[in-house]
Amino acid sequence: MDISIVVPMFNEERGCDQFFQAVIPIAESLNLEFEIICVNDGSRDGTLEKLRTWRKANRRIKILNLSRNFGKEAALTAGIDAAKGRAVVPMDADLQDPPELLVEMVKRWRAGARIVLAHRANRQTDTLMKRVTARWFYKIIGALANPKLPADVGDFRLLDRVVVDALQRLPERSRFMKGIFAWVGFEAEYVTYSRNERSLGTSKFNYRKLWDLALDGIISFSAVPLKIWSYLGFFVSLFAAIYLFIIVGKTIILGVDLPGYASLVSLVLFFNGIIIIGLGVIGEYIARIFIEVKSRPIYLIDDRGDFAD
Ligand code: UDP
Ligand code: MG
Repeated sequence: MDISIVVPMFNEERGCDQFFQAVIPIAESLNLEFEIICVNDGSRDGTLEKLRTWRKANRRIKILNLSRNFGKEAALTAGIDAAKGRAVVPMDADLQDPPELLVEMVKRWRAGARIVLAHRANRQTDTLMKRVTARWFYKIIGALANPKLPADVGDFRLLDRVVVDALQRLPERSRFMKGIFAWVGFEAEYVTYSRNERSLGTSKFNYRKLWDLALDGIISFSAVPLKIWSYLGFFVSLFAAIYLFIIVGKTIILGVDLPGYASLVSLVLFFNGIIIIGLGVIGEYIARIFIEVKSRPIYLIDDRGDFAD
């Protein structure tokens, strides 16, 4: 097997036909042995039936049926784990990742590239809100996390077998794939493309899901939010000590004066707020430790014999 295309699918019944019609001819034109692994991520529409129909006509299409909706990151992991190709290409089912790019990616790979990243030339097909939040996300995670995430690069990329084997050594349950991809390293080459509009159906990510994903990325790949609090605490204590000396000195020299209720209340509220935020941040990490410690599987497969060659 040369190329494994991995496609996470959640309620993609409507876009299925278009997807295969676009991808199969391009994959065939490569003149390589390929498989298309469709990970049915607990779809509640007719995705599975659609996939089966396609598989009947083309055995290169393999269906990995998850037992429920585990989310895109887990679905991708499942597909990559099952892939047998010497190169693996994760791809969205909605044709937002143009399959034409496969040709150039494979060319670079054959010339020796370990990773070929598909870099978005612009974000014109995103809403303003998504553009702004994405920019801030990359700014923050760039400042906090190590190694850096390449900006404007999605999950669409080509990974050599060496990289895939490396990926599989990361056993964590919090699957922020963009971070995991970046963490394993290896030299990457870029190809640039402009992202299409979603072909059919609707986006499976709302702002809540995106927020959770962003938080997962930052918390899973940086301990800085946790460490900030010791520095903050140090400076607050320093300030408090200096202030204490001033107040005590002033009281000894000038006697007691009572006013200051308002400033007292606001200081108490302010610092209580800071303490609660600190606790919340610690909670985010503990919640993730809890999930990791339980060591549950990242995904479960409900095998219905739709995978074999
Ligand atoms: N997806 C998935 N499980 C989910 C959500 C999404 O497998 O819980 C898949 C979806 O079917 C698609 C890809 O992830 O193939 C990207 O999703 P979508 O296009 O909705 O995201 P967007 O492009 O809007 O960020
Ligand atoms: Mg999409």
